[in-house]
Amino acid sequence: MTGGGQAWLIRNVRPLGGAATDLLLSDGIIADAGSGLTAAGARVIDAADLVALPGLVDLHTHLREPGREDAETVQTGTEAAALGGFTAVHAMANTDPVADTAGVVEQIWRLGAQAGLCDVRPVGAVTMGLDGSRLAELGAMADSAARVRVFSDDGRCVSDAVLMRRALEYVKAFDGVIAQHAQEPRLTDGAQVNEGEISGLLGMSGWPAVAEEAIIARDCLLAAHVGSALHVCHVSTAGSVEIIRWAKSKGWRVTAEVTPHHLLLTDELAVSYDPVYKVNPPLRTQADVEALRAGLADGTIDCVATDHAPHPVEDKETEWQAAAFGMTGLETALRVVHAATVETGLLDWTGVADRMSARPAAIGRLDGSRPLGGTTSPETGAVPVHGRPIEPGSPANLVLYDPATSSIVDPAEHASRSRNSPFNGMVLPGRVVATFLRGTPTVLDAKIALDGKLTR
Ligand SMILES: [Zn+2]
Ligand SMILES: [Zn+2]
Repeated sequence: MTGGGQAWLIRNVRPLGGAATDLLLSDGIIADAGSGLTAAGARVIDAADLVALPGLVDLHTHLREPGREDAETVQTGTEAAALGGFTAVHAMANTDPVADTAGVVEQIWRLGAQAGLCDVRPVGAVTMGLDGSRLAELGAMADSAARVRVFSDDGRCVSDAVLMRRALEYVKAFDGVIAQHAQEPRLTDGAQVNEGEISGLLGMSGWPAVAEEAIIARDCLLAAHVGSALHVCHVSTAGSVEIIRWAKSKGWRVTAEVTPHHLLLTDELAVSYDPVYKVNPPLRTQADVEALRAGLADGTIDCVATDHAPHPVEDKETEWQAAAFGMTGLETALRVVHAATVETGLLDWTGVADRMSARPAAIGRLDGSRPLGGTTSPETGAVPVHGRPIEPGSPANLVLYDPATSSIVDPAEHASRSRNSPFNGMVLPGRVVATFLRGTPTVLDAKIALDGKLTR
């Protein structure tokens, strides 16, 4: 389904929100760009007033398969991804079994290829079984058909400094990166909401900013000490932004992500006691939201990552203390970023393309600048490339977005198997109209585009 086949002519689209032009997609690439293109046999899309962005890349998705197919499957999760404009997602390792061996990461990678909706890049666990005591088979996962380059115990923190140092040293051999869920466990024992005014008001156990910041500071120092690459997951506090800014000023190899929900929502929502707002790390204060937005705008925070964390109703619609941590996010991410950064004047569409496609692709080693060796696509035999500019010769990974519309979020309409969206009932701007993966539409008219290969 990738590569050859049907050509598409997209008329009057605005790449990165700029001047309208036509794009011809053929043989899996952007074959031509310019006004008044014609192509015999091509299907035509009238894209007047739509913005074209490079296909979005998510560094942080929980697809739940294997083991929690009641929450999400690779099929439903990648449908959600495609509907959100994503052409590649990194699938976190906290599945059952944990993705800590070559066998499990290859299984997840194959399920993604079978679904065919976006490239699924498995994240490997740092420690066996996420137990925090023994390193997983990092080299075997890197050498596997899945070519793993991002490793994380996400959901848990690699809190042992010696183990974190060894993991950082180990991945240098194959240009890997350790993505840390920064949470000092002893400082967050039993924590429920951000430590501050709201935790005091609600009488709930507080989650101090220092529990995140202390780990980030330690890990930046470790990464510098061993000369390796650290990626900080879901940065949530103003202090964390300051530490990362300092680490980058030293020239250290530190990158960071922020979630859409931390860019828009605050801990005041917990006053409702609705566990849909329970998330790890917790929603913070308005001052933190402002600092995260500013950090994303000035590039201190490299990218947006969804931390899409689907949970079935029985794990979320319960009392706060018993509810699971996590929020869905794939289908709303671009719209939330639109509201938080474009409508506020902090980023233009060029900036959004950078923070949601080019930079996460580079961090995930998918931008084509570092050949991974071997093959990672059973269909094309080629290493998938994402985050490239919208110009002739680039892979035809694209999202067409209508920025002028708005609508109320209704998770019942989402393809995700779970419904735990904190944006339920909110009016958000924009709409993903179409998504193309290597020239083949995965989404048309804001619906999954079924071709011969796709089954629901
Ligand atoms: Zn996490
Ligand atoms: Zn996560």
